[in-house]
Amino acid sequence: MKRLLWHCLILIALVTVPGCSATRPVAVSREALGTVVSVTAYGPDTAAVRDAIDRAYDAMAEVEAQLDSHDPASAISAFNADPYEPTVPPDDVLTVLDEIAEAGVADEFSPALLAVTGLYGFEEGGRVPDAGSLATALAASRGFGCTGDGMMAFARLSDPDARLEPGGPLAPGLDLGGAAKGLALDRAREALKASGAVTAALISTTSSTVMLGAKPDGSPWRVGVEDPRDLDSVVAVFTFSGDGALSTSGDYQRFFEADGKRYHHILDPATGLPARGVRSLTVAGSSLSGLRADILSTALFVKGAEGAVEYAEQHGIALYAVDAEGRAHLVPAPGGSGLSVAEQATPLP
Ligand code: AMP
Ligand code: MG
Repeated sequence: MKRLLWHCLILIALVTVPGCSATRPVAVSREALGTVVSVTAYGPDTAAVRDAIDRAYDAMAEVEAQLDSHDPASAISAFNADPYEPTVPPDDVLTVLDEIAEAGVADEFSPALLAVTGLYGFEEGGRVPDAGSLATALAASRGFGCTGDGMMAFARLSDPDARLEPGGPLAPGLDLGGAAKGLALDRAREALKASGAVTAALISTTSSTVMLGAKPDGSPWRVGVEDPRDLDSVVAVFTFSGDGALSTSGDYQRFFEADGKRYHHILDPATGLPARGVRSLTVAGSSLSGLRADILSTALFVKGAEGAVEYAEQHGIALYAVDAEGRAHLVPAPGGSGLSVAEQATPLP
């Protein structure tokens, strides 16, 4: 009888110890996707949760190996090495292109701005491109399209400018830097879900976040939006009761100043110039994928505050934007979506 009691006690211990750890998450932060990615995951078996998190980072690395156009060994760089040769693009590129079309933002989100972005030299301190080079790179970027049989390529310009040759500074190329993080976070979330070990999780980079399931204590996931002119202050907070995605695009994330003007990394595909009118724009939705959220934050930034608000209202997407004058624009989430957004403070003027 005593022995049975001991067995029962041990059994209870085995059941309750993992039960306790289900309310304490495993939190891991690692360098990935050219930034730091944090994963907070809940599950009854801590070792299995850790294992699942490793798989999630593997999944993100796979997306990076496809879509990082700054890595010469990536699949997208292989495509870019010979941009005029009709080729079937890597699978993840096709996934992103389909999503841009489905979101209806092809005028604002261009997958083909590699040479245009490169002219600004954001990685090397920044420079204002001369108007001629900008026009040439922009014209070349517009030549991207299908050539038949699932193949794609850039059309050669009739202008025989040596700088447009493969490897040249104005040679066109694909750059999915405005979407790759979102897709990578989706794949990481899928890996956590597929493990069967994770009941709830939040995966975040500085600009994008995805949530899986509800926290075991029932409290919502909270994601703050920083003031684009005071990165230590939070100006809005999004709360999610379960699944969801959020993405922020900002003119403060990569920029330089010249002649008293801020040149930042989100370019208007119509002009090749930094999109003006918005400082920061966040979209969120409980049924949005990370990929859709990432594409939309970039595209709606280009649309400008008014167009962005209109799009968000029409598509049932929550939005918080700070315009060029420091005014906040808020579109609440649809009722019953499990998502809410509240202003926390007034952004700096
Ligand atoms: P995000 O921070 O997600 O808004 O993405 C910004 C990055 O996307 C830039 O660093 C560029 O690599 C790329 N990009 C800039 N402008 C655009 C645009 N209009 N459409 C698509 N990608 C862009
Ligand atoms: Mg984006």
